[in-house]
Amino acid sequence: MEYSYDDQNIFAKILRGEIPNQTVYESEHALAFRDINPQAPVHVLVIPKGPYVSLDHFARDASQEEQVGFMQAVAEVCRLTDTDGGFRAICNTRTHGVQDVPHYHMHIIGGRQLGRMLQG
Ligand code: AMP
Repeated sequence: MEYSYDDQNIFAKILRGEIPNQTVYESEHALAFRDINPQAPVHVLVIPKGPYVSLDHFARDASQEEQVGFMQAVAEVCRLTDTDGGFRAICNTRTHGVQDVPHYHMHIIGGRQLGRMLQG
């Protein structure tokens, strides 16, 4: 698999400060911000600061520090938001996964009963 990162994607622009975001948590390796079109009371996107297009790209090529930093950001998002009742983590990937933004991101969605995982 060849991964090619487009630095004009909207999350790259957010990381460069060219587009505003509602930050929930930020660290050296990750940024977490509210989704602009929330699907539930909690809908936060966690992204690495490095140029990775997808979960599989990140898992293959990111350093251990980046990977640990990313998961620590996930933990902080869970601590800071209403996820005690549960939540869903989603990483849409490429065409079959219907990924719109080609910068790796994990959706953290919760704050209500979400229903079963897949429809259609
Ligand atoms: P995906 O289909 O997994 O690539 O989802 C991309 C997500 O990014 C969608 O849920 C969008 O609502 C969200 N999104 C797009 N632009 C922005 C933005 N400027 N700020 C916050 N979230 C955004």
